[in-house]
Amino acid sequence: MVKKARVAHVLIFPYPAQGHINPMIQFGKRLTAANRVKATLATTIFISKSMHLNESTGSVQIDTISDGYDESGYAGAESTKAYLSSFQSAGSRTLAHLIQRHSSSNHPIDCVVYDAVVPWILDVAKDHGLAGAAFFTQPCAVSNIAYYVYRGLLPLPVSSNLVSVPGLPFLEVGDLPSFISKPDVYPAYLEATLHKFSNLDKADFVLINTVYELEEKAVDAISTQWQILPIGPSIPSFYLDNRVKKDKAYGLSLFNSDYKTVTNWLEDKPPNSVVYVSFGSVANLGQEQMKELARGLKASNCYFLWVIRASEQALLLKHTIAETGKKGMIVEWCAQLEVLASEAVGCFLTHCGWNSTLEALCLGVPIVAMPQWADQTTNAKLVQDVWKAGLRVTSEEKGIVRGREIAGCIREVMHGAKAEEMKANAMRLSRLVRAAVSEGGTSAKNIDKFVSILEEQS
Ligand code: UDP
Repeated sequence: MVKKARVAHVLIFPYPAQGHINPMIQFGKRLTAANRVKATLATTIFISKSMHLNESTGSVQIDTISDGYDESGYAGAESTKAYLSSFQSAGSRTLAHLIQRHSSSNHPIDCVVYDAVVPWILDVAKDHGLAGAAFFTQPCAVSNIAYYVYRGLLPLPVSSNLVSVPGLPFLEVGDLPSFISKPDVYPAYLEATLHKFSNLDKADFVLINTVYELEEKAVDAISTQWQILPIGPSIPSFYLDNRVKKDKAYGLSLFNSDYKTVTNWLEDKPPNSVVYVSFGSVANLGQEQMKELARGLKASNCYFLWVIRASEQALLLKHTIAETGKKGMIVEWCAQLEVLASEAVGCFLTHCGWNSTLEALCLGVPIVAMPQWADQTTNAKLVQDVWKAGLRVTSEEKGIVRGREIAGCIREVMHGAKAEEMKANAMRLSRLVRAAVSEGGTSAKNIDKFVSILEEQS
């Protein structure tokens, strides 16, 4: 067989936020693993300046575009709408320059893998005659709900108590993504959520960071519309197959973590004794909720490791820290996968961001779900009622979850009557998602299919 002069070159372009960058950069690393594809990650100038350079993006190179906020990023915009509008105008212009620059090099771009929430990237790719692959960073269930709304089959505001969407169990309004259950609160995000379907027919591939076996019915239901390729979990290979020693971090962290202090603290804790608590990179709990959480952690009487981002720590007044007692450790950020992989961790109190949910399933850690917004409410429903790998807390008036409720759920998941069953389910799912990305697994086959088509076309 004649060896090709060059391998296909894929440009990967996530929305500039940690939870979108992580799975997409990881997908890039997976593509390059067998040297069949070259991958470049496009991100904003601001993000590239915020990267922690002690991490490595491995074989994925970084190139930049401008979102119009090179010095401040999203935080400098006066509203979400203003940011998204600038991201589109400055972003399309500078993305076009980036593509042109590469086209005059000896390794032009063949395909753009774009974050599905940023559909204008596909338009720019098509203007330059490139293939386009949409990448959904949320579970299939969430896309199915959004698509149902997009087609006008679920008019907003939702008027019935129980909603039926193909491929999903019945959903209460509180199980729907918050942009859909509260359309007036997040109009810009709702628009972005629905707009991703506007040009999806032009995409050559539709990739999704899920596992077919986790969401069989949801994937089958949407597959009547698009031939979607579940390729998840897009997680560093070490945690899927620990023979791949080097690939332990996603590689583009926007926060600084004190890795050694956390591992030392975890080291002498008994197996399954620690609650790991994190609400991801975006959610803000507010002072009252933080205080209740502190009370709940103390009342659970478990060890806990609580991630509170620097921007949130001001809310944690001294007396709130006193509420937590002496069994905990508070850090600004940590190597989450390392923590979840620790034998000391018995459960994950999480906002149920999709990456955190997949990471917990992958490492067999049961969940206490405390969703805040976006897709987290739907993910929590899946965790509790479909996968039965955890419990969702119940909130009181004004959406506050009281400390006694939090403590009760932690105790249930750690030691309650159904604790063993939840742990066993989490372990079963761990085996199932690992198998999907192992040789011959459903996700591995889909990635191979994607690469083979690119190879034929480039
Ligand atoms: N994460 C981390 N350290 C932390 C907290 C979170 O590395 O202390 C990572 C986590 O592993 C995940 C991502 O940040 O990959 C958060 O994504 P997710 O979808 O869970 O939530 P989001 O931040 O988008 O709300």
